[in-house]
Amino acid sequence: MSAPQILWLRRDLRLADQPALHAAAQAGPVIPMFVLDDAAAGDHAYGGASRWWLHHSLESLGHSLGKLGSRIVLRRGDATTELAKLANETGASAIHAIRHYEPWWRKAQTELKKALPSGCELCLHDGNYLAEPGSVANGSGGVYKIYTPFSKAVLDRMPPREELPAPEHIGSPEEWPKSDDLADWNLLPTKPDWAGGLRDFWEVGESAAQDRLDEWVESVSGYEASRNLPSQDGSSRLSPHLHWGEISPVQVWHRLADTRDEGWQTYAKELIWRDYAQNIIAEYPDYPLKSYRDGFESLWRSGADADADFTAWTKGRTGYPIVDAGMRQLWQTGWMHNRVRMIAASFLVKHLLIDWRRGEQWYWDCLVDADYGNNGVNWQWISGTGVDSNMFVRIMAPLTQSEKFAAADYIREYVPELAALSDDDIHDPPESR
Ligand code: FAD
Repeated sequence: MSAPQILWLRRDLRLADQPALHAAAQAGPVIPMFVLDDAAAGDHAYGGASRWWLHHSLESLGHSLGKLGSRIVLRRGDATTELAKLANETGASAIHAIRHYEPWWRKAQTELKKALPSGCELCLHDGNYLAEPGSVANGSGGVYKIYTPFSKAVLDRMPPREELPAPEHIGSPEEWPKSDDLADWNLLPTKPDWAGGLRDFWEVGESAAQDRLDEWVESVSGYEASRNLPSQDGSSRLSPHLHWGEISPVQVWHRLADTRDEGWQTYAKELIWRDYAQNIIAEYPDYPLKSYRDGFESLWRSGADADADFTAWTKGRTGYPIVDAGMRQLWQTGWMHNRVRMIAASFLVKHLLIDWRRGEQWYWDCLVDADYGNNGVNWQWISGTGVDSNMFVRIMAPLTQSEKFAAADYIREYVPELAALSDDDIHDPPESR
């Protein structure tokens, strides 16, 4: 029997179009492994909503692997140490993993190469992006700081590679290494169980992602017209599936690209925002942690009043209906419509003058799609503090945006105390004027 191959799983929890699994399954018996490393990411350890999603995603992948006679070995601790230990225990000749760009994963990838026993190598595969960081450079060979030229350069390279099928057979090791029990990781909230809204809103896992994509094929042509309207189900809601790698952007691209209409073209550009964000954090690893333009530190309010305003924002009690609806949607469902994410973030920074990093951390804790690159890059974009061209003086006025994007029914759903107001009044209730 050939030597076992460890498959190091992170945000790539799928069987189809999983290049690391594909390579491992061809090379020998596979030991899929997930390490819960709570320390490595520091401030960006999994937030509450992410932990909830992770539990269900691992459970779902475990079932799918089980149908192929395989399973996931779960370990908790420092990822490098645990992987090297498993390689020693099993005599594995390789660890296969999809390349990740968060600074803590890059550090682990570097350290792991040194920590592995001789005879075991780390094989990193591209797999989660259309344009891996480093693969698209500007005229002088550097990273694109501005999204639009980056997006044009990526579109010029499309279509992406062919997608890979899920393996029909995955070999098992002679003996399975010991594993933690997923339930013992306590990823699900219990006291209190605040996840009821998430359970109602989401189906988690690879087959749920494929189902959502099937539905989305029917709707993508309307994307250009409806994507900014929070009262409609006008966007794909694939973001948590893409973030956790339950589906790859390559799969999404190939499934949708035949439509070739205006809706698809706009949608393709949104997918490329993901790649842009990864390119930015690969170049500026601390991007979600500090402003990349000077002069903002003295602007941010602090103290009891600012804290009270921040708390009101997190609870959806600012008195601005569109902002409150968004913040309550976030709390209930672990997701917020993109237009409203922008309005709520702009409100925190430009109306309340609160440091964007406090908002970034709140979104990080509450979003099921909380993504180091996407979250940090969008917060800096909204705040006008980043390397891109967006300026601080651009403000998203919540009252006019709410009206412009016909948010009345959305507000009624998430701020029920305003439900009786007319479409004209609900954006700016008369008693609060
Ligand atoms: P669709 O409109 O259907 O777009 C398709 C896919 O493209 C999305 O699933 C997502 O993967 C990608 N995408 C779309 N817009 C963006 C964007 N602006 N930046 C990066 N990728 C994008 N997205 C996250 O995935 N994780 C985050 O942590 C996150 N934080 C955000 C914070 C702020 C302040 C703002 C303004 C936006 C943030 N976004 C984040 C981007 C965007 O809001 C979500 O990706 C989108 O709302 C997800 O819904 P959807 O899948 O229906 O998107």
